[in-house]
Amino acid sequence: MSDPLTIALSKGRIFEETMPFLAAAGIVPLERPEHSRKLVIKTNHPDIRFIIVRASDVPTYVQHGAADLGVAGLDVLVEHGGEGLYQPLDLQIAQCRMMVAAHRDFDYAGAVRQGTRLRVATKYVKIAREHFAAKQMHVDLIKLYGSMELAPIVGLADVIVDLVSTGSTLKANHLVPVEAIMEVSSRLIVNQVAFKLKRAEIMPVMDIFRQAVSNGLNMKGQNG
Ligand code: ADP
Ligand code: MG
Repeated sequence: MSDPLTIALSKGRIFEETMPFLAAAGIVPLERPEHSRKLVIKTNHPDIRFIIVRASDVPTYVQHGAADLGVAGLDVLVEHGGEGLYQPLDLQIAQCRMMVAAHRDFDYAGAVRQGTRLRVATKYVKIAREHFAAKQMHVDLIKLYGSMELAPIVGLADVIVDLVSTGSTLKANHLVPVEAIMEVSSRLIVNQVAFKLKRAEIMPVMDIFRQAVSNGLNMKGQNG
């Protein structure tokens, strides 16, 4: 084989929850990204390697063919737009929910009813814009890169749009979820050109992943 098969993953939950799928396909990393500063990680398979990138950069690397495969959350994929990517498989890992949340004293239902112009702080500008446009609500979007929960507390925004799993971070900051936007899980993504040119290498991996999903392999990662 000429060119190694390159799989883009992010550190943390995506890497950890993707490992069982890769193991099912006989692919094992030679190092743990948590214990290494390396951004290119070899595997037991000489023709397969991982690259470690930011979660929101995974679709970009795969779109441009710098990686053949990747695993990315639906949140990240919607924000990216999905250009140049196939999304053949929902791995059902890293499950959470995109929600609107407000300070517990804020009357969200009243604001919606009265058509109040809302200030919305979020990392997910596209998802938030489309959500409120569909509700025909006027919003001022405030782009943040993290710690969204702070925005309503200090009066930067009326509501936030963020991922919620247990809700404990919201609760710790006196916020409550007021509206669900979408269910989020992580997907296998494939570069569209690689899917044709490296089909012989990619298809067996994809088939094993698909089998693993239907066997409920993702359940193992759910306490992480
Ligand atoms: P980062 O903080 O760099 O975005 P994370 O590992 O926190 O990296 O998130 C990676 C992906 O995991 C997100 O894009 C999302 O799809 C999912 N995710 C984020 N937060 C949670 C959560 N609390 N529970 C489950 N999945 C989550
Ligand atoms: Mg995070």
